Amino acid sequence: MKEITANEFDQEVLKGEKVVVDFYSTECPPCEALFPKYEAVAELYGHKIKFLKIYRQGNRELATQLGVSSSPTLLFFENGKQILDTISGGIKKSEITARLNQMLTENEIAEIQKKQQRSVSEYDVAILGGGPAGLTAGIYLGQAKVKTVLIDPALPGGYMGITHQVSNYPGFVEAQNGYMLAHYMSEQAKQTGIDFKVAVDITSVDLVKKEIVIDELETIKAKKIIIATGTSPNTMNAPGEKEYKGKGISYCATCDAKYFVDKEVTVIGGGNSAVEEALFISKFASKITMIHQFDALTANKTAIEQLQANEKITVRYEHEPRKFEKRGEKMVTTIENLRTKEMSELASDGVFVFIGFKANLAFLNTNAIPALDNWGYIQTDEDRKTSISDVYAIGDIVSKKYRQITTAVADGTIAAITISKELN
Ligand SMILES: Cc1cc2nc3c(=O)[nH]c(=O)nc-3n(C[C@H](O)[C@H](O)[C@H](O)COP(=O)(O)OP(=O)(O)OC[C@H]3O[C@@H](n4cnc5c(N)ncnc54)[C@H](O)[C@@H]3O)c2cc1C
Repeated sequence: MKEITANEFDQEVLKGEKVVVDFYSTECPPCEALFPKYEAVAELYGHKIKFLKIYRQGNRELATQLGVSSSPTLLFFENGKQILDTISGGIKKSEITARLNQMLTENEIAEIQKKQQRSVSEYDVAILGGGPAGLTAGIYLGQAKVKTVLIDPALPGGYMGITHQVSNYPGFVEAQNGYMLAHYMSEQAKQTGIDFKVAVDITSVDLVKKEIVIDELETIKAKKIIIATGTSPNTMNAPGEKEYKGKGISYCATCDAKYFVDKEVTVIGGGNSAVEEALFISKFASKITMIHQFDALTANKTAIEQLQANEKITVRYEHEPRKFEKRGEKMVTTIENLRTKEMSELASDGVFVFIGFKANLAFLNTNAIPALDNWGYIQTDEDRKTSISDVYAIGDIVSKKYRQITTAVADGTIAAITISKELN
């Protein structure tokens, strides 16, 4: 893979060929995650398209000129002009090949697809999910010299990676930025020597055969599988919700609150996460209206007291959203008063939804799903074994009362020690 500098850019990139350029940085986990995928596609497409790398920090002026503000970022060029969308962050192989295929003819694509080879690798343990539960299992298994692979469609860290401040993880006097906590946990897991396959597409998972296919062509066989895939936020299925998801409706305050400086925001929900996230959003927004279905908030007492003392936040109790629309720049939420059945409209600059979570299980082959509780969470025994032989479940996906980073890492520990002993 050829590495170039800004001085060589015109010669190497703008002279008419088809070119991909990876702007990378050092000490950049998503850049490390991209590197093997970039090499693999370069091997396949390299006779038709030129693949280059540029060190972003060493070539800042060029990066800024090209609008590259994060690493890694892939840019695509043809006939001296930039083409297609850029991609950055946790880049999947499928996102790269989708763009490369747009640069080729149908015959060229067919020829490349013929060359693609299936690969099979074997492990003692495959961990699905790189949140705190999966990373902790990885640390213990790696230290016990158990051959382990950790697989995640995103970058490691799970919810921890997008939590603004974590103040209750033992061992830190000051509240920790969740992103850094995720980074430390992930580096600690990597140092034990386990393999990471992150930002991949999960093609299929067969818990009975213990086979996981990623990126369509790579089969991972394991003696044991740990499910640590966590949860996803619930949606309301109200008209307009799907349409405006990410375009006015958000499920992540850490990700999006910063875009609402001095703006008005609607928050849906009244439990712990809604109250805590409304408090966080109030650092940016000028006014927050919470919509809550019950006549009292269901968060913990301290959070409720903080919310009540916050002049920016008001709560409309016993109301539920019925419809979301965009009118000009405003999001208009139609809300129903559950007592009087009266409908009214509430306009704001953005809507945040925090109405609980559901277990991430949709990826499983429906013939083999472990026993679940009434809410769709996986039932386990005290060693975190599920109803399927040699399949374990840990973290938020498990049927339990309290879902926290500490309870997730505890589950990871228990499953990993159990497995290490069984494999000995
Ligand atoms: C907004 C917010 C704030 C929070 N604040 C705190 C706090 O301050 N303190 C605290 O202790 N707890 C907090 N929590 C709870 C805590 O983050 C969770 O309990 C914890 O992250 C659960 O860890 P996990 O590893 O089980 O799941 P997650 O953190 O959800 O990680 C699951 C991982 O699985 C991956 N995954 C999903 N589908 C698949 C698949 N098909 N195959 C493979 N991988 C998959 C995901 O990409 C993700 O990386 C907070 C939660 C939220 C939502």
